[in-house]
Amino acid sequence: MSVSKPFIAAALKRLNGKPFPPNTAEAMAEVVKVIERLAEDEEHVTRIVDKVLTIPGPYPEPAIFSQCAESTATLTYMADPLCSQCGGCGFRYRKVGAYGYSAKCDCWARRPKSLRPWAMGDGAYAG
Ligand SMILES: [Zn+2]
Repeated sequence: MSVSKPFIAAALKRLNGKPFPPNTAEAMAEVVKVIERLAEDEEHVTRIVDKVLTIPGPYPEPAIFSQCAESTATLTYMADPLCSQCGGCGFRYRKVGAYGYSAKCDCWARRPKSLRPWAMGDGAYAG
């Protein structure tokens, strides 16, 4: 599920026409790391770069890459809507001695965004 750094570095070259691209190898490596963490697969890297190219202005900050990754993702990190332990809410009641508390359920994972009904009409970020 992870994408190779050379693939990401090659895809990011499409952004080099933007003003003020990263001017050191270290800065570029950081951008590659950001994309590596965000991207689902190679097609997603391409969608992220496509989206960034629609935004006017200089070479984007990592937060912009994050927003573009979110708005072009097909997967999202969420609880299992059909979980028998938490009923899909993602949290379970736990008790230690006399104390009760709510804890994150074990069912959280990357799942298709279409399972998240309130995410319909994506594009809330980065226009
Ligand atoms: Zn659960």
